[in-house]
Amino acid sequence: MQAALAGETSPDVRNRELLTEFVRINDAPCVACGYNLRNLTGDVCPECGNRFALRVGVPNLRFGPLVACLAPLLMVSGLLVFLIAMTIDFGVPSNAMWYWAFLVQGLVDAVGAVLLYRRRWAYLSMPVDVQWRVAGVVIGVNAVAFVTAIVMS
Ligand SMILES: [Zn+2]
Repeated sequence: MQAALAGETSPDVRNRELLTEFVRINDAPCVACGYNLRNLTGDVCPECGNRFALRVGVPNLRFGPLVACLAPLLMVSGLLVFLIAMTIDFGVPSNAMWYWAFLVQGLVDAVGAVLLYRRRWAYLSMPVDVQWRVAGVVIGVNAVAFVTAIVMS
C-alpha cells in the first residue's frame, strides 16, 4: 500500500492542505456565519469558531420537489396524530365513514413519508421533472382524498 509508506501524507493532512489551497484562491463564505474564509491558513472560522472541512457537493441539487412531496404526507400524518388523540378522548365516532377515510389516508401518508425520507437519495437522483411529477401526483391524490373525506363527513 503506497499510502502507508513512510513519507506519504495521510488523507487528513492532504485534505487540510487542499482546503487551505482552496480558501487561499477562492472567496468561500463560512456556512455557519457567512464570514469570507479567503486566505485563511487553518480550519477554524475566526468569526464564529466553527471548524470547516473540505467536502464534495452537488451544485444543482434541488430539494423543492422533495419538500413538495413530503409536505402533504407530513400534514396528513399530523392529522392522523390529531385523529388518534381525539379517538383516545372521545372514542370512535359512530357511523362516520370520514373517520375511517382520514385514518387510512393518515396511515398511508405516514408510511409514505417514512419511506420517502429513507429513500430520499434515490428520489433526488431522478431527473427533476420526474421528481416534480411524482410530487404533483402525491399532492393531487392527497387533495382528492382529503376533499372526499370532508365531503363524506
Ligand atoms: Zn463562521
